[in-house]
Amino acid sequence: SNDAVVAMHWFRKGLRLHDNAGLLYALSLAKGNNDANKVGKFYPVYIVDPNCYQLLKCSVNRAKFLLECVQDLHSSLKVRGSRLYVVTGDPVEVLPKLWSEWGVTNMTYDADETGEPYSVERDGAVQKVAMQMGVEMMAFQTETLRPLGNVPGGYVANLGGLASNAPSTMSSFQQLLSRIDRGNIPVPLAAPKKADFPQHSNVDDDEKYLPLEHPWDIPWPRGYKRNEIGPVWDRKDCLNASLRPIVPGGETIALQRLEQVVTARPDWTASFEKPKTSCTEVSSPSTTVLSPYLSLGCISPRTVWHAVADATKRASSKTNRSKPPVSLHGQILWRDFNNLMAHSANAQNPGSWGRMEGNPYCRSVPWSSDPKLLAAWKGGRTGYPWIDACMAQLRSEGWIHHLGRHAVACFLTRGDLWQSWEAGADHFEGELLDADYAINNFNWLWLSCSGFFYQYFRCYSPIAFQKKNDPNGNYIRKWVPELANLPAKYIYEPWTANISILNAAGVKLDKNYPRPIVDHAIVSKENMNKMSLAYDMHKDQQAGGNGASSIKSD
Ligand code: FAD
Repeated sequence: SNDAVVAMHWFRKGLRLHDNAGLLYALSLAKGNNDANKVGKFYPVYIVDPNCYQLLKCSVNRAKFLLECVQDLHSSLKVRGSRLYVVTGDPVEVLPKLWSEWGVTNMTYDADETGEPYSVERDGAVQKVAMQMGVEMMAFQTETLRPLGNVPGGYVANLGGLASNAPSTMSSFQQLLSRIDRGNIPVPLAAPKKADFPQHSNVDDDEKYLPLEHPWDIPWPRGYKRNEIGPVWDRKDCLNASLRPIVPGGETIALQRLEQVVTARPDWTASFEKPKTSCTEVSSPSTTVLSPYLSLGCISPRTVWHAVADATKRASSKTNRSKPPVSLHGQILWRDFNNLMAHSANAQNPGSWGRMEGNPYCRSVPWSSDPKLLAAWKGGRTGYPWIDACMAQLRSEGWIHHLGRHAVACFLTRGDLWQSWEAGADHFEGELLDADYAINNFNWLWLSCSGFFYQYFRCYSPIAFQKKNDPNGNYIRKWVPELANLPAKYIYEPWTANISILNAAGVKLDKNYPRPIVDHAIVSKENMNKMSLAYDMHKDQQAGGNGASSIKSD
């Protein structure tokens, strides 16, 4: 009939069927709210948009992971008698074409509440066209435990509607959460079943809009204008790249992984303490590695939360129950807290979260910019084996343990190289499978002592930090094979070995492995002084001065 709905669900970040409120709502519309006379059509869509946060700078590894997520979504929809329509291009141009082609009346999607600049711009433009074409759009908050904004149940709604009131410490964030519905986290929604899909949908166009198969199928626009900040690779690059993401993509595997690491290990889950997990594991990681799935929404944070709660209940009575912020629940809370901080920064000054300038949570620090130092860090050629090993794992698998990230972020910024955290965050955004606008920038602010954490006099040593945890240097031996045959005594400091030891191990300093690019003992002291000056300047500015004088008006 004429008033039948043609509903579209636009998958963006929530690449899953479970706990997907927007998807369920679109389906209920398309089913005519179960009125047989009003059954309409349903079109689930994913747009491969090379300019979106997930693809803009991304490595071949992450592109592969992302395409696997999209393929998995397609398979899961097919099992339910539907399919995924994968279209490439700019959503602002692509969506209106599809709306006309299919006669779409309603579109649902998962909201991006962090205020990430590109998605704000894109969604604004899409909404404008939708209004003109009479397509009703509806956003759903699904990517955090609670909505971030000023909506019922949202964090900001419980702050008197003012994002600038958001708590800026983890403990005050936990207090805020405990005030909303007594800290209860909503139960995730089940995935739709075959019967929830309108039956005659999507049978006649099997050949059109299929998921891309390979990263090289991504149609980077000709003369891609963001070329200079991101890799635009082709088929040859892809074939040469080491395509071995630490985990394969997709909701199906994400849910299996949750089952294996959390549900099947109640004692481990209940007693998880992040600082006690090891960052030098060479075979199986000591944390969940759910981050790539959470970052693309293959798994819902509420699903993870409740799986952890259930497993903890089943743990033996002898098992110690850890608490936030170090417990697994604590990790999921860090994630929401980081999202709220991004939301708050951008609400106060749009687009400021990923930058130093104008970011209400970031102190101004006069970083230098040395392309050589930055390139050495990115390429794992700093001459500090532990740092270089982490950077090698990042490049190869798209993931490193949290404390490895700590080490390399501190090293690049306030610890050793004195390069801007923005440059580091930018590189991480390209390489990490779990690249996340809110979490990545939050952690770079933290590690560079620009925001949230200020103890700049405490600095990670690129030598001593891991020596006690991994005295034989197994992690280094795996990721920096040039050093694999060095005796344990020298594995963290090859330059201290004499020439015969180096020769015996096949290490040729400056030839197959660099000498340290800076002297940690010296630069770390110098950098602490620079930080101290930057902090003084900040104090002056807070006190109303212009930073030029250290005499305060009071
Ligand atoms: P688990 O310890 O098993 O934790 C479970 C989940 O909790 C994670 O998947 C993640 O979603 C969340 N989580 C864990 N630790 C943190 C944290 N410190 N802050 C916020 N959420 C957390 N994480 C990202 O997801 N994306 C990023 O882009 C990112 N960039 C980072 C950059 C730097 C410089 C640093 C120091 C950390 C960064 N992290 C980032 C945080 C953290 O390192 C990863 O979330 C974690 O290592 C992922 O591994 P996991 O899934 O095994 O974590």
